[in-house]
Amino acid sequence: MEPSVWIFHNIRSQEWTITGLLCSLAAGMTVGILFTQVTSLATTLGLHRGMTHQAYSLSRLLNWMFRLTLWLSVGIKWWEWCRVHAYHHQHTETELDPHSPVYKGGLSNVFRINPRLYQIAANDPQVIAATGERFVPDRWDRWLFNREGLGRTIGIGICMLVFGVIPGVVAYIVHILAYIYLNAAINSIGHGAEPTGIDSRLERQLAWISRHTGKRPGYDPRTARKKTVGNSLNSQPLAWLTMGEGLHYNHHYRQRCATMRRFTGDHDPGLYFLYILRGLRLVGTFEVPAPEPLPS
Ligand SMILES: [Zn+2]
Ligand SMILES: [Zn+2]
Repeated sequence: MEPSVWIFHNIRSQEWTITGLLCSLAAGMTVGILFTQVTSLATTLGLHRGMTHQAYSLSRLLNWMFRLTLWLSVGIKWWEWCRVHAYHHQHTETELDPHSPVYKGGLSNVFRINPRLYQIAANDPQVIAATGERFVPDRWDRWLFNREGLGRTIGIGICMLVFGVIPGVVAYIVHILAYIYLNAAINSIGHGAEPTGIDSRLERQLAWISRHTGKRPGYDPRTARKKTVGNSLNSQPLAWLTMGEGLHYNHHYRQRCATMRRFTGDHDPGLYFLYILRGLRLVGTFEVPAPEPLPS
């Protein structure tokens, strides 16, 4: 039997053998990680750069496809996400910032409870008053996409139908956890360029790395302009895992830019997909500035 046929047979057979289970787990984890990448693409190109910052226009079809993807994969309501994120930009690193590590209990706390902080901000009358008019749910939301539980149930059902029960469930769980914690990493570590002054495990780990390398990860004194960009930093490894979102310092510096790339050596994977979508006429025009050399 061909190796690929053998692996597929073991995954689909659902037999309670060690080989069958191991193949199912491996397949589920692989699919889960790919699934997270698709959702990250919908998040960064749809929710973030397109809907919140309007760096380019989205065709109605693509806007709907992104919302469908987010509904099936995590149950996010686009209008809540955009409101909270716009508010984060309006009040970066102040008491009003929905997930500033300095004001919300430190890096570890924001990492641990990021979804809860989002939900608290989404229901906050001050956030709604400041951003509610810009991001308004439509008929599709009222009838379908606002039903988060239904979206997740259909999403996991599709996974089980396509990949089998065990790989499908594993894929969905791996995906949800990876998505939650990658986004939590952007909001916590992505705002930890300088020590927050609040003792926490993540803070101590960053301090340990600084002591041994002489440099706080992602912090570059040549690009640090704390007053305009909060305590944000660039992390290329995080950017590889999040379709470019890890270049958070660049994004705060130039919020309405279609790319998160700014300096020579930065890589924004989301930008390549954006070129493809523009080629398919699913997004409007946008400018991509040439990479700047790092200031000396
Ligand atoms: Zn930020
Ligand atoms: Zn933003």
